[in-house]
Amino acid sequence: MTSADTLFERIIAGEIPSDVVHEDETTFAFRDINPQARVHVLVVPRKRYRNVAELTEADPQLLADVLRSCRRVAEIEGIAESGYRVVFNTNAESGQTVFHVHAHVLGGEQLGLFGRFG
Ligand code: AMP
Repeated sequence: MTSADTLFERIIAGEIPSDVVHEDETTFAFRDINPQARVHVLVVPRKRYRNVAELTEADPQLLADVLRSCRRVAEIEGIAESGYRVVFNTNAESGQTVFHVHAHVLGGEQLGLFGRFG
């Protein structure tokens, strides 16, 4: 490991165990360790960008791959029709804590509203 390795790079490399839901050539999807809904899966591009803004600018095809994997995760989890939410927290005030872009796929029950804290 080098200091450049983020938590998610170590998960993708298998150095930290994860509950894998789906993987393909460019993306990796695994269950969030602190789920905020019955289904809560993180979809991460194997190549690291800091956030979705950087990913969009640098590699729109890879962003499309991430969104396609989100849809695949929803199908695997049986929530593609019932409904699901895709969230990209972006920078500090959004609550982003891991600076390797990731989509949260949330569903499996009626979701609440979201926005301001408290
Ligand atoms: P964010 O706050 O948008 O950066 O999301 C980071 C997410 O990573 C949080 O929802 C955490 O619960 C999740 N997380 C942190 N460590 C792990 C881990 N080892 N395995 C799975 N999910 C994790």
